[in-house]
Amino acid sequence: MRVGGRALWLLEPADPNELRAAYSAARERGFVPRILGGGANLVIEDGLYRGVVIATDRLKRCFRPLGPVPDFSPHAAGAQVAPAEPSSDPRLIAWCGATMPSLVQTATALGLSGFECLAGVPGHLGGGIAMNAGGRHGEIWNMVELVRVIEPDGTMHDLPRAECTPRYRNGGLGERVVVGAVLRLVPSTPSEVRDRTREYLLEKRRVQPVTEWSAGCVFKNPDPARSNGCSAGKLVELAGLKGRTRGDAIVSPLHGNFILNRGAATATDVLGLIDEVRAEVASRSGVELEVEVKIWRADPA
Ligand SMILES: Cc1cc2nc3c(=O)[nH]c(=O)nc-3n(C[C@H](O)[C@H](O)[C@H](O)COP(=O)(O)OP(=O)(O)OC[C@H]3O[C@@H](n4cnc5c(N)ncnc54)[C@H](O)[C@@H]3O)c2cc1C
Repeated sequence: MRVGGRALWLLEPADPNELRAAYSAARERGFVPRILGGGANLVIEDGLYRGVVIATDRLKRCFRPLGPVPDFSPHAAGAQVAPAEPSSDPRLIAWCGATMPSLVQTATALGLSGFECLAGVPGHLGGGIAMNAGGRHGEIWNMVELVRVIEPDGTMHDLPRAECTPRYRNGGLGERVVVGAVLRLVPSTPSEVRDRTREYLLEKRRVQPVTEWSAGCVFKNPDPARSNGCSAGKLVELAGLKGRTRGDAIVSPLHGNFILNRGAATATDVLGLIDEVRAEVASRSGVELEVEVKIWRADPA
């Protein structure tokens, strides 16, 4: 959203071992680090956070496994994906900072199907797994075969899919840090995957303000039984709130579940508008919307 303040410490590890070292170093000093992926689902409060943020920006690698045992190491042989190279193994290994658009692109070039459902979804693999990113055509966890995580005590290990319980917009990993994942895709052809990706992207662009500054959908869709079948965006629209502003923050006139920064919004504007929309939707429809975006509070001044 391009709003929010600063952190006292920003750590930018460059490989999985550095990520674990950064995490453990912070914990040993009494900090519980916040993990920053692409920031595509975050509203960060204005002010200073006197803690540690670990950014996954430099952990971008994605490669094909060379054997049955996943090798996440930075020195894995043949580590970079060679898109033109044919292979019968439809899996990819990616570190948490690989961007979802780059994974969509890589899978398309390799003729591997699965990532089309994430066409137009910004952010990193780790954030996508933590949030269970997806939409009407599927979710990221449909592709996860195994996820490598760091536990709160600093140990790093692999969790097979069968031991995980992802839910709607929640990967179910709690406090764990996602280091990377083995992703199982479905063999297809580049042209088929490209056509589907394009179709989903066009569909998304028609209904969502994807090129504007936002944090994606602000609210989770409520249980249809409670909301008369209405999505969160529809409830906001029915409450007449599309186009409502606070400072330079505005409820998207295109999609009621997006709040946009028109250029100079502050986190205070955005958070105030979220509260206002929630309260008005509740009073008009009786539905209490649950916030989907993650809010990082600053420390009191
Ligand atoms: C224009 C737009 C369109 C969007 N469309 C969709 C959509 O269609 N479907 C959808 O699901 N989402 C959508 N989103 C939201 C966003 O893209 C997803 O939630 C995405 O998964 C966020 O990833 P990120 O890396 O940016 O996470 P961040 O915003 O950086 O972080 C989100 C949460 O994940 C945690 N996290 C990040 N990395 C890790 C890690 N390595 N380990 C553990 N926790 C971690 C953070 O601490 C935070 O709690 C959209 C956003 C925008 C701006």
